[in-house]
Amino acid sequence: MNERSRTATAGHQGRVTIFGPDFPFPFDNWIAHPAGLGSIPAERHGEEVAVIGAGISGLVAAYELMRLGVKPVVYEASQIGGRLRSQAFEGADGVVAELGGMRFPISSTAFYHYVDKLGLQTRPFPNPLTEAAGSTVVDLEGDTYYASSIGDLPPLFTEVADAWAAALEEARFTDIQNAIRARDVATLKALWNDLVPRWDDRTFYDFVASSEAFSALSFRHREVFGQVGFGTGGWDSDYPNSMLEIFRVVMTNCDSDQRLVVGGAEQVPRGLWRCPAPRPAHWPAGTSLASLHSGAPRPGDARIARDEDGLLAVTDAWGDTRRYSTVLVTCQSWLLTTQIDCEESLFSPKMWTALDRTRYMQSSKTFVMVDRPFWKDMDPRTGRDVMSMTLTDRLTRGTYLFDHGEGQPGVVCLTYSWMSDAMKMLPEPVERRVQLALKALRQIYPGVDIASHIIGDPITVSWEADRYFLGAFKGALPGHYRYNQRMYAHFMQDQIPQEQRGIFIAGDDVSWTPAWVEGAVQTSLNAVWGIMHHLGGGTYRDNPGPGDVFAGIAPIELPD
Ligand SMILES: Cc1cc2nc3c(=O)[nH]c(=O)nc-3n(C[C@H](O)[C@H](O)[C@H](O)COP(=O)(O)OP(=O)(O)OC[C@H]3O[C@@H](n4cnc5c(N)ncnc54)[C@H](O)[C@@H]3O)c2cc1C
Repeated sequence: MNERSRTATAGHQGRVTIFGPDFPFPFDNWIAHPAGLGSIPAERHGEEVAVIGAGISGLVAAYELMRLGVKPVVYEASQIGGRLRSQAFEGADGVVAELGGMRFPISSTAFYHYVDKLGLQTRPFPNPLTEAAGSTVVDLEGDTYYASSIGDLPPLFTEVADAWAAALEEARFTDIQNAIRARDVATLKALWNDLVPRWDDRTFYDFVASSEAFSALSFRHREVFGQVGFGTGGWDSDYPNSMLEIFRVVMTNCDSDQRLVVGGAEQVPRGLWRCPAPRPAHWPAGTSLASLHSGAPRPGDARIARDEDGLLAVTDAWGDTRRYSTVLVTCQSWLLTTQIDCEESLFSPKMWTALDRTRYMQSSKTFVMVDRPFWKDMDPRTGRDVMSMTLTDRLTRGTYLFDHGEGQPGVVCLTYSWMSDAMKMLPEPVERRVQLALKALRQIYPGVDIASHIIGDPITVSWEADRYFLGAFKGALPGHYRYNQRMYAHFMQDQIPQEQRGIFIAGDDVSWTPAWVEGAVQTSLNAVWGIMHHLGGGTYRDNPGPGDVFAGIAPIELPD
């Protein structure tokens, strides 16, 4: 890791991190502790544990279980990396399109633990109005503004930003962030647990519209807030979501100080796959997940059932069945009723409701590779960059520019959109998506011939069109807190019926911060604790794990 990224991500002392707020457990400390996560009895060393999905949550769990002496058996239906997918442009080494996660807040301390372990470089992400972007253009209702910072925009934008900051204070934003900084669990729980019942049933839009701060302003302020947002771009696609989702994002700084992984985020899961485990229990030095699997994961999982002897039988797409005491499922939960024939008795009816009602958001991105970072050319007429990071209410919504240096190909994410804006692209092939995006951008930059810079083939994605995902990430609706709480707490299995034990779930849709990789990583660490416990092992006294302290700090339960 370079010096710059080290200072940005090292240490959490006094910083806002993704520490709770629902379950304020220091995952970063637990995984960094020199004693390790715990141990499992020697007689269970080498036992096979099935891990369904080779995304980041599957591979973090598999990696940590391997270190504990277990033999993870990873099943993957599509590609290693899952939603950390960095697709290379043909013919250009290291030039990638980040189709899933692309900007990682430094508050993601458990995720960065693995980034740092793998020695990957990071640098600031070119978000709107940041130094890394250089310049930003905001184009709304045909009016185009050029800015380096918010102060360059008309007063309306500052009024919107101030109103958002003031509205958040109505929910004790600063007090909550201070409690997170201090890791003051009691204060954090008291403040957060007060918000949960009050805001689970209400939308983000409701919060904005009914806040004192925005009530004093015009409808146009709310609209502009939805289009331009805070930190990373417009958030109006999240207006129907439960306000709790948005509180978590801003209170844990998911939306600020974001960095990209140089060369692509997929290197994190792929690195965990290849990286030898340091001082593993049971396994010889040099053992890696790749070496335990003869190089490649097993095929996708087609069926999970309970055998008469009590073991869980996992059948892959080619019909091979293997039996395990323990199975971890990390794919999207809807896949348990579409891709995987999962025996109904493995989860309670209430869990099935949660797994099936969980709601995913749609997202589409379209990228082109360009011959050079032409956007930095100066327009001699205005003295400004000819093109900038762009936020607009047009079809493209967010356009991001990735500079690999003069003389190197650059990458333009022509459009990154969610929900209805993503649905507009869904039926279109990649060429048409590029044409539609270029047409919208021509209205904003009439003098710039973006097409003349394109080299190689464009790359696009619609996560909802992929049968192995069915959507980009969870976006909980009002009233969904109970579902999330059930799924999140499922790794604590001592109180559930015997016939439902041994199958664990983890990943983005179990997380409290869906769409942010840190949440997926934290749920996978919960599963590691649950599996360790299930196999008769436990943590060390001076390094308690999430399950050891769960009862005291668990996410609150709302009455049914
Ligand atoms: C468009 C988009 C943008 C995002 N942006 C950001 C961002 O900027 N910052 C951030 O922090 N996070 C971001 N995220 C979220 C982040 O990418 C996810 O939280 C994280 O990658 C989820 O990892 P996971 O392991 O939980 O799930 P996945 O990555 O989905 O892994 C599950 C795996 O299961 C596999 N699978 C499916 N069916 C089967 C089967 N039957 N058998 C075996 N395997 C199966 C899938 O192929 C997949 O590889 C973004 C996500 C998307 C989609």
